[in-house]
Amino acid sequence: MTLNPDKYLPPPRFSWPGGKRCAVMLCFDVDGETTALSEDPDLARRLTTMSQCEYGPTVGVPRLLGLIDHLGVPATFFIPSFIAMNHPEMTRAIAASGHEIGAHGHLHEKLAYLNPEQERDVLRLSLGILEEVIGKRPVGFRAPWFEINPGTTDLLVNEGFLYNASLMSDDVPFIHGNGLVEIPGQWMLEDWEQFAFNADPAWGVIPEDCEKVYRLWWDEFEAMRDFGCCFVLTLHPWLSGRPSRVRLLERLLRDIAAAGDVWFCQGEELARWVLANPGARRVLDFDARG
Ligand SMILES: [Zn+2]
Repeated sequence: MTLNPDKYLPPPRFSWPGGKRCAVMLCFDVDGETTALSEDPDLARRLTTMSQCEYGPTVGVPRLLGLIDHLGVPATFFIPSFIAMNHPEMTRAIAASGHEIGAHGHLHEKLAYLNPEQERDVLRLSLGILEEVIGKRPVGFRAPWFEINPGTTDLLVNEGFLYNASLMSDDVPFIHGNGLVEIPGQWMLEDWEQFAFNADPAWGVIPEDCEKVYRLWWDEFEAMRDFGCCFVLTLHPWLSGRPSRVRLLERLLRDIAAAGDVWFCQGEELARWVLANPGARRVLDFDARG
């Protein structure tokens, strides 16, 4: 048996602006202290655990912001409003650099444990605080832990959101029945699984070697570029703001840019492109309806 010698190269999944081959959305989920406090408010007394979380807003964000501004790469920061309230100058520095700020709960609440009224109240609270801190109402949402409820997408539309970035059913954006844009992510392109570790409470496993993580993310990027997908990378400043990981991100971004034909975009511009080009997505699902 002889295999087809040509590399498998199906038509691109999406028509990106300017005929680019793929989109790259860099996300920072600035969970900071809410990582601990949403799990148990008593963790406020665990000063070392709290200090590891605080490293995100106080050291990780300034350093990562420095990197992406140095490189000229746009990003989207999803910030729990408790963090925006307690680190207002950090939040304003992100906005002042032209990066997008999206909603991410107040105290990083797991939506699955909230009833619809509580979920609506938390969303409104977070919107009010973010709007007060940055002077602009966010249009993008990333659910804490990525998990949404059956009513979440309607709630987001009712509150004026353009997009959600929480589901994982595709590797290009799509439009929900109610008009909300979905920008899907995936656990492989997340730093928590690679780098998180805390002794007690026990978080994560073993901090991974940056070389391994580079390969994991680079291989997915290269194949996504071949297939015309949307590469959504999600990083937490308390993890990815550590020096060797900032170098990892710099290398990855430089190599992605050097690969060429890539659209670096923020969530809002991505969502607007999707809405303006509803036929841009190539459906793969054999059972897709309508
Ligand atoms: Zn988060």
